Amino acid sequence: MGWSWVTTYPVDVTAAREPAVPSVLAFDDAVRRVRDGGGRLTTARRQLLEDLNAAGGRVTAEGLAERHPDIDLATIYRSLSHFEEVGVIEHVHLGHGPAAYRWAGVPTIAAVCADCGIVTDIPAAELDGLAERLSDEYGLRLELGHFALSVRCSRCVTSGV
Ligand SMILES: [Zn+2]
Ligand SMILES: [Zn+2]
Repeated sequence: MGWSWVTTYPVDVTAAREPAVPSVLAFDDAVRRVRDGGGRLTTARRQLLEDLNAAGGRVTAEGLAERHPDIDLATIYRSLSHFEEVGVIEHVHLGHGPAAYRWAGVPTIAAVCADCGIVTDIPAAELDGLAERLSDEYGLRLELGHFALSVRCSRCVTSGV
């Protein structure tokens, strides 16, 4: 089975672009963190962890549930919550849809088109200059990662929607 279920928001967006930026978090380290964090690594949890690691992009709890009909949704949510607590995954809100999770340690942030919903990941370092100015001039710390940047993609701008 391919990874077509690894869609983001909205669900018909299959062309989400991910830059080839590898995570700095190795699978074995993630397993250790989950265990050290007091969570038992059940078969279900290991399967979910493997999926999140292999996905290379973002997945929703519902997407994981579709792929694992044998694991109930409550277990999936509890597992995701534990994984996030120990820092092996992170979630982002891409719009009005459900939270989307991905493997931690990828230094990119999501930019979601307000019209068509396509998600483009851009290197977080692109915003260093802005972050610095906000900090220096206004005493504000730019918090990226929890919410996607709202943008319009070139296709939507061109089509003049
Ligand atoms: Zn668009
Ligand atoms: Zn959130």
